[in-house]
Amino acid sequence: MIPFIDTHAHLDMEQFDIDRDEVIERSTNSGITAIINVGTDVEGSMRSVVLAESYPQIYATVGAHPHNAEGLFESDYDTLRELLSRDKVIAVGETGLDYFKNYSPADVQQEAFRRQIRLAIEINKPLIVHTRDAKEDTLKILEEEGAERVGGVIHCYSGDLDMARRCLETGFFISFTGVITYPKAEELREIVKEIPLDRLLIETDCPYLAPQQFRGERNEPSYVRFVAEKMAEIKGISEEELSRQLFTNVAKLFGIKDFGEEDTIVYKIRNSLYVNLTNRCTNDCIFCPREVRPEVEGYNLKLHSEPSAEAIIAKMGDPKSFDQVVFCGFGEPTLRLETMKKVAAYVKEKGGKVRINTNGHGNIINRRNILPELKGLVDAVSISLDSDNEEGYMELCQPVYDGGIFEEIVDFAEEAKKYIPSVVLTVVAIPGKVDIERCRKIAEGVGVGLRVREYNRIG
Ligand code: SF4
Repeated sequence: MIPFIDTHAHLDMEQFDIDRDEVIERSTNSGITAIINVGTDVEGSMRSVVLAESYPQIYATVGAHPHNAEGLFESDYDTLRELLSRDKVIAVGETGLDYFKNYSPADVQQEAFRRQIRLAIEINKPLIVHTRDAKEDTLKILEEEGAERVGGVIHCYSGDLDMARRCLETGFFISFTGVITYPKAEELREIVKEIPLDRLLIETDCPYLAPQQFRGERNEPSYVRFVAEKMAEIKGISEEELSRQLFTNVAKLFGIKDFGEEDTIVYKIRNSLYVNLTNRCTNDCIFCPREVRPEVEGYNLKLHSEPSAEAIIAKMGDPKSFDQVVFCGFGEPTLRLETMKKVAAYVKEKGGKVRINTNGHGNIINRRNILPELKGLVDAVSISLDSDNEEGYMELCQPVYDGGIFEEIVDFAEEAKKYIPSVVLTVVAIPGKVDIERCRKIAEGVGVGLRVREYNRIG
């Protein structure tokens, strides 16, 4: 699968509220290795940062769209400035001018645009510019404010060739959406032909502007592939060549340099093969080195993007040659349920054995009882109990959920027995914090074994 990046998405918007995780999962499984999620107002920018800090493959930008220029307060610029200091916030925007819809008065849009260019220069991060029916004012403001010092991208390009050339002279990249796949967009395709390869980017602008194949439906990052396909056709090059060039362009503009690093997707300990599905977790256990030093037995488990089922299978070798294939790593595997099931099905088909190490939150995460779906796919499950009571669990594991979670984990273990041949509860023996005997009684009550893990021992 040829990898691509969606350089402009709005996954924080309400259109994704019901299935955001699935959409992101689908993009990973389609080879989209990174997504730049773009803020359009202060609240959306905050949500964008939260997404970037939750998913390794998502980066955020913060800013105020020209539609939202009216109503910006001085304190909003302070908030944007603060957000821009975060590691995964890579640009200012989207900002600019939109005289087509004119939701904010032109002079207010211009002032907000100028302020955000100054902010980008102050922080030294590039700009994401939206411009529609505002050619001369956009170029004038970019020039007067010295925007070429930080550069940026004119996103969802809809201007003429003259404007594209002048933006290139100012050091900007030009980005195209699924609009280039529309039958009537001949003029835009002619502009794509004229832009040098090393100044092009692609994006979905989802949930808007789905490519021709899905026109009128909600757009999503996995559809950026259709934009790439059309762009490669217009430029007369292979998709592999386009992919390489676009990765270089993204690295150059946004300074994201870690796409090329190879992640540890699978790793061997003794004769088990471990699968590193995600670094995300619904807990933040006080004993977990996930954030500071995600290493196990010399393997660095930090993921720059979450692997697809195909990528895992390609790295796996013969599953039968291992005692078991374990979904583990530093993260909760049921956050990636569909990928996990796909890989587990492959392992079983090849005659291997499957174990899951989980925090037991799978049914809450996926909003359904997932255990029947694991029947026949999973031979063993280790569920982290990690305390002997609710209060202790909240203190040690710091889940993202409110109370009741400890009981949920015990119920999960009880239910797991119906579908998975071997179920054990595990506990880390933190001196003075956990009553191991009470944990043992809980395990006995559920009718499963208890494994006590040494404190400060990983692997
Ligand atoms: S449940 Fe596991 S991966 Fe998640 S924070 Fe705790 S120790 Fe780390």
